[in-house]
Amino acid sequence: RAKDAGGNRYEVADPDSDARAIDRHSLTNHLPAALERDEFFLEYQPLIRMSDGKVDGAEALVRWKHPVHGRLGPDRFIPLAEHTGLIVPLGRWVLEQAVRQTCTWASGGPLRVNVNLSPRQLHHPDLVPDTIAVLEAVGVEPSSLCLEVTESALIGADEDELKPLWQLAELGVDIALDDFGTGYSNLANLRKLPATTLKLDRSFTQGLQRHPADPVDVTFVEGIVSLAHALGLAVTVEGVETEHQADQLRDLGCDTAQGWYYARPASAAEFARDWAPNG
Ligand code: C2E
Ligand code: MG
Ligand code: MG
Ligand code: MG
Repeated sequence: RAKDAGGNRYEVADPDSDARAIDRHSLTNHLPAALERDEFFLEYQPLIRMSDGKVDGAEALVRWKHPVHGRLGPDRFIPLAEHTGLIVPLGRWVLEQAVRQTCTWASGGPLRVNVNLSPRQLHHPDLVPDTIAVLEAVGVEPSSLCLEVTESALIGADEDELKPLWQLAELGVDIALDDFGTGYSNLANLRKLPATTLKLDRSFTQGLQRHPADPVDVTFVEGIVSLAHALGLAVTVEGVETEHQADQLRDLGCDTAQGWYYARPASAAEFARDWAPNG
């Protein structure tokens, strides 16, 4: 229709309104075939060490190359996969793909890779054996892997439900609390979780974009960083979009940063070209 109407008038339409029109049921129904046909792919976004600006690892982010609708972001299909349970085989694919890929990048040992886990994966009995199997098959140390879980996925989890995460942590896998600060987190709970890293949500980073920065946001970041460090946790900040934010977050003691200021998520080939140490 855009062509019939002449010009490119309709091509700047909000991609989200397009997206909303796609039938969730049809997307859901196509998820299993999509996995079989290899329609999912990963992009990688570098994690930057703030002390020296060097790459410290990469977060793997899944996308769907849909044969009709084109490229779909994870917010469009992860909740559907979570609902049907397809997230379990999809998540296993993501984990293996990400670990294999990052392993090919660095000559001085594999690059650290962060992989997101959804609540359903977290509570699946195969999480620990599957993860061990991938690490052994690829031949990398557990410390090369960081699993990201949201604090909301852990809210209300009892000791038994946290056991798999503790087992992985004891093997040496890093555990990051993703989107930290957005849930109704009970800070006292932090001591009961096997987390090694807090990933401070983008909403905190946003308040630092202003000149001068919102003093309340500065206070929050300062407080969370000092609490995290006192508990032996590292702090990663998400959504760093400007140099101004990066400078402040470094001064506030954040250890690692991620965001468009450094790099957008990119294909494995682009990541290797721009970020992989020693090609
Ligand atoms: P997340 O784990 O919090 O990932 C960070 C999101 O922020 C990514 O969105 C990334 O592209 C985006 N981002 C990075 N830097 C910036 C920035 O500077 N500014 C802004 N505005 N955004 C930035 P993406 O790729 O759309 O992923 C959305 C969410 O989908 C992820 O949030 C994660 O929760 C979930 N997800 C992605 N891949 C997987 C996966 O393999 N498995 C599971 N279970 N969930 C996944
Ligand atoms: Mg994440
Ligand atoms: Mg996050
Ligand atoms: Mg987030």
